[in-house]
Amino acid sequence: KLSTLPLAVRTTCAYCGVGCGVQATPQADGGIVVGGDATHPANLGKLCVKGSALGETLGLEGRLLHPQLRGEDGLRQASWDEALGRVAAGFSDIIARHGPGSVALYVSGQLLTEDYYVANKLMKGYIGSANIDTNSRLCMSSSVAGHKRAFGADIVPGCYEDFDLADMVVLAGSNAAWCHPVLFQRIARLKERRPEVMVVVIDPRRTATCEIADLHLPIAAGTDVWLFNGLLSHLAREGVMDGAFVAARTTGLAAALAVANVDCADPLEVARVCRIEPSKVRAFYRAFAATPKVVTAYSQGVNQSSAGTDKVNSIINCHLATGRIGKPGMGPFSLTGQPNAMGGREVGGLANMLAAHMELDNPEHAELVQGFWKSPRIAARAGLKAVDLFQAIEAGKVKAVWVIGTNPMVSMPDANQVQRALGKCELVVVSDIMASTDTTAFAHVLLPALGWGEKDGTVTNSERCISRQRAFLPAPGEARADWKILCQVAQRMGFGGFDFRAAHEIFDEHARLSSWRNGTGAGCVKRVFNLEGLTGLGERNYDTLDPVQWPVTQGAALGTRRIECGGRLVPTAPRAPVHAASPDYPLSLNTGRVRDQWHTMTRTGKAPRLAGHVTEPFIDMHPHDALLYGVREGELARVSSAWGAMVARVQHGGGIARGAVFVPIHWNGQTASDARVGALVSPAVDPVSGEPEFKHTPVTVEHF
Ligand code: SF4
Repeated sequence: KLSTLPLAVRTTCAYCGVGCGVQATPQADGGIVVGGDATHPANLGKLCVKGSALGETLGLEGRLLHPQLRGEDGLRQASWDEALGRVAAGFSDIIARHGPGSVALYVSGQLLTEDYYVANKLMKGYIGSANIDTNSRLCMSSSVAGHKRAFGADIVPGCYEDFDLADMVVLAGSNAAWCHPVLFQRIARLKERRPEVMVVVIDPRRTATCEIADLHLPIAAGTDVWLFNGLLSHLAREGVMDGAFVAARTTGLAAALAVANVDCADPLEVARVCRIEPSKVRAFYRAFAATPKVVTAYSQGVNQSSAGTDKVNSIINCHLATGRIGKPGMGPFSLTGQPNAMGGREVGGLANMLAAHMELDNPEHAELVQGFWKSPRIAARAGLKAVDLFQAIEAGKVKAVWVIGTNPMVSMPDANQVQRALGKCELVVVSDIMASTDTTAFAHVLLPALGWGEKDGTVTNSERCISRQRAFLPAPGEARADWKILCQVAQRMGFGGFDFRAAHEIFDEHARLSSWRNGTGAGCVKRVFNLEGLTGLGERNYDTLDPVQWPVTQGAALGTRRIECGGRLVPTAPRAPVHAASPDYPLSLNTGRVRDQWHTMTRTGKAPRLAGHVTEPFIDMHPHDALLYGVREGELARVSSAWGAMVARVQHGGGIARGAVFVPIHWNGQTASDARVGALVSPAVDPVSGEPEFKHTPVTVEHF
């Protein structure tokens, strides 16, 4: 019997943007043993606790196994034909009555690149609207916007190996120890091997990441631009700029420096605004100036801000000015949150992008993509970004939304607004692996999707590495791949161009588009994103595809570790978060992950050993603040903002500053009390990226 079992399958972890390779080995008893893939460059066999517990999350309890339609008596099981027909007819009817802008897709960094590609093609090339946005908007869209402003394209110049080669690692707005654990362990090993490597953590909280830090800068929420503008100013004063690199490869230094010098030239003033000791600011600036090989990695603490794009550019400015970019051991590095946040970007999964890193508002790009697709139309302008999208739904401007692989009722800011929006929406379609979530409760049509271990495709991690996710389990019930469901709806809407039979055919089209007319000749558009070397793989080569970093061209058939790039320094005038603390809401709410949970816990919530780390939602606050607000550790308290409220137990984690409160993002409305912290979070967004300000909402706390 054992000899009939499939062999170990190499796949990729379903969680964070480190993108670890996983070996999944089916067992005779039906279980799956999960281990690290020693051949995968992202993790060389290592896994964190979440990744190691993947095998415990594969049970079918709670799974959505059949299509369901809502009638007067609630949801009832339906055939695929009936459900797909209802979606296609509903979307077509609303488009006919109100135009293409009246429908939308809201998708997810959990989707595989092939799913994303088809969703984007359907909306932008066939429906003719760019109303497709993704939960990646909440995660790293400020990095995308910052990259585009600096490099002209959404490029991460470096790779994980740079962390091994650096003499200084700066982690800004990143609790990598909990959120990107395998990469953090790599940095920790580096520190063990070479104790002289300096690790700096910039974070309002003293997190687990600080355990390996030589210097922790506990800056006040939202003050990063002051800190990095001050650094730019310091680097100029100290003569650390790389004049030759700046002259040959960059523009905008004088303007960026002039803006930085206005408020941030004096480290004492920077220390005052950031609310940290001046000696720490000086120590950081001196170390950065003296260390050519420095990697500055940044994550949600930088991105999730109403000044997120400026924060990203203020970091990149320091690397461009010193020429420390695209070379071994140095560079700015965006740590993406989700397993496929990068892959989604590659195929235009954001409302303001076209496929293959092309721009919606560039007529040449639009003509190229439409020409390649031979599609009847192409979206003429950017669609609605996540927060705007749900506001447009509530306002009745968007009348049909198809939510795929995400739970916006929990994860969006101002989540009660999302509840109002979905409650009013004429047609809500939800594709998910789980039957009962806060969002599926609003579905008129529920479509069962394949989950991790059942689906087949590719993902791209934080270092541009494309890896295969491979199926090793049969499809449960009637669940189908997201790309297939999208194609079947598209065909029922009368659209050609969706006759894909397998994931490898979609990947091939995606790779061909990336290299089509990609060059400098007549009719060409030069793009860095290029998968020319991955075209025409066929099923067999796609199945055995090894991890590879794009661009993959004829000249770089094995991929590209680093992208040598210059760029534009962007002036970044510092500004405070949108909503200031007030007498009614005097504290600043920060939100984030805990070590062993993922997103809204639909998957990690199934593994008992993951629940053991943190068993319930909590409100972390400084003991002095707790005293001031009349609440005690271990007791329930109510935390409220102008947008909503929730109840949880108070704790003193020990790492939080006076005036700040931290609440984790994972718990949902299906717990004993509604513990959706998203309901409290301000809907303020970055004006460039549209990313919400999850790291600062004015709140108050009271005894419950
Ligand atoms: Fe998965 Fe991230 Fe952990 Fe790697 S570090 S095993 S990708 S959760």
